[in-house]
Amino acid sequence: MDRDHLRNRFAQTRTRIASAASKSGRYADDVRLLAISKGQPAQAIRTLAECGQREFGENYLQEALPKLAELSELDLTWHFTGQLQSNKTRSVAENFAWAHTLDRERIALRLNDQRPDHAPPLQVCIQVRLEDEPGKGGIPPAQALALARKVNELPRLKLRGLMCIPPPETTFEAQKAWFDKLFQCEQELLAAGLSLDTLSMGMSDDLEAAIAAGSTLVRIGTALFGARDREPDS
Ligand SMILES: *Cc1c(COP(=O)(O)O)cnc(C)c1O
Repeated sequence: MDRDHLRNRFAQTRTRIASAASKSGRYADDVRLLAISKGQPAQAIRTLAECGQREFGENYLQEALPKLAELSELDLTWHFTGQLQSNKTRSVAENFAWAHTLDRERIALRLNDQRPDHAPPLQVCIQVRLEDEPGKGGIPPAQALALARKVNELPRLKLRGLMCIPPPETTFEAQKAWFDKLFQCEQELLAAGLSLDTLSMGMSDDLEAAIAAGSTLVRIGTALFGARDREPDS
């Protein structure tokens, strides 16, 4: 995609976020834009960085690590948004500032052990599985509090909040109903005394509903960069 086109899409996405925020009586600055750059070349990331975008998310380590290396002279914050498995924790702990998909104590322990001493704690969100469909990523809401307490005990991890990827819905109301559940789950953790400041929810097709439900960070790929090529399996 050419640079002007990408700049326009970036401006349009910022406008979507700002108008969704204002409709809910919120400030645009309270909703961070995480640019999901999986499937996109390093040059597209450079163009968005020139527009002032600083936070980028990647899902696939094989693809991400060369791009991180190529762009290392830029002052960017990298978020890992792909599925976390044991064989990926070391690379995530060594190369990323954030991980959004923590859903098991075992993975939390590995990330904590493998986070390099010279780096600040890894910022983490717990992924919550809102629908009753085992096999998908995420922990059931009823187990989120116990995992959050465990994460809080680990010095090399910093618990920031909750994340979800709800099933696709076609209406605003149906989308928002899922995000309301994550908001509710966050309220329960806050009431239990945990400190959280991040609700990582909302993607290209449902960012308005997510912001209406209290999202503080939207993860946007397609709306920014256009359609991706077919994705690898993991
Ligand atoms: C790919 C991806 C996104 C971005 O999705 P779009 O619909 O392209 O905006 C957001 N979050 C996660 C976890 C993803 O894997």
